[in-house]
Amino acid sequence: MSVNYAAGLSPYADKGVCGLPETFDNPEELKAKAEILAQLIRESQYLVVHSGAGISTSSGIPDFRGPKGVWTLEQKGESPHFDTTFEDAKPSLTHLALLGLQRAGYLKYLISQNVDGLHVRSGFPRDLLSELHGNMFVEECEKCGRLYVREKVIGVMGLKPTGRYCEVVRSRGLRACRGKLISTILDWEDALPDRDLNKADDASRRADLALTLGTSMQIKPSGDLPLLTKRKGGKVVIVNLQPTKHDKHAFLRINGYVDGVMKQVMELLELEIPKWDGPTICESSKFTSEDTADIKPPHVAISKEKLKKVPIKKERKREATTLTHGDSVGEDSVPVKREKADSPAELDEEK
Ligand SMILES: [Zn+2]
Repeated sequence: MSVNYAAGLSPYADKGVCGLPETFDNPEELKAKAEILAQLIRESQYLVVHSGAGISTSSGIPDFRGPKGVWTLEQKGESPHFDTTFEDAKPSLTHLALLGLQRAGYLKYLISQNVDGLHVRSGFPRDLLSELHGNMFVEECEKCGRLYVREKVIGVMGLKPTGRYCEVVRSRGLRACRGKLISTILDWEDALPDRDLNKADDASRRADLALTLGTSMQIKPSGDLPLLTKRKGGKVVIVNLQPTKHDKHAFLRINGYVDGVMKQVMELLELEIPKWDGPTICESSKFTSEDTADIKPPHVAISKEKLKKVPIKKERKREATTLTHGDSVGEDSVPVKREKADSPAELDEEK
């Protein structure tokens, strides 16, 4: 299947600001900032990372709002360029560095807006990961909530039936669930998955350091989660080439390629970046690496406890918000921004 997952979404007028110019810190600035980031990670008690499409561009998957992004080109009447398929895409240095940070005990929770499945296929523990917009490789039983991670992309979007049925055998082996399996990929109007959103929300409130990588944070509610960390007294560090919606909230703003920044940070922390030997699923952070299973065709059902009722939160739909004037600091940003914690009123004006 084509990497152009965007083509399968329904038309939607407001995709936020696209194609803003990229800014690059010079090598000395970048090095100084990487040192600050490494120190913040070392001192952190609860690091949460928020990843966006910018961490997969070096894997050959286009982003959305970058100079060659899907929506940027769409606005010009052009088509994006794909260097790979979802099945063939390999995790980037950043995906693997995040795995290394998790194994070293620094990274406590990972929140991603990406649907490319690369975090899961890199072997990142699924119990420490929220995929807020779905995963091209995952389908879900609408009856019992079991998630199935497949070897190939599901090929259906917008939470629609995939044509397969749940194979979960109920207690005492009586009969299979047989619920309809549906795609986990959100269309514009779909509400975010409760389970993943609630876990992401909790982790963001608990975090003392939020690191955002390769996202312009224009999609709500995902893009606003780092602000929860700041509201609770934590720090926000932003790594992105283009301006983001929340630059003014950043303690540290790094204008560089995420892979380059993460490479330096891992060296400074004296951590190895794990090697990748093909798609690997790690179901739980409690498992050792020996327990991670290679994906075996045709289907590896990844068991998931029965969907629990989660506290009802206001249904939050994915929507794009635009950068308002003043959101962008771009070249005016100083290497280290130190700000007081936000008052709720300040956060409200982010709308
Ligand atoms: Zn089921």
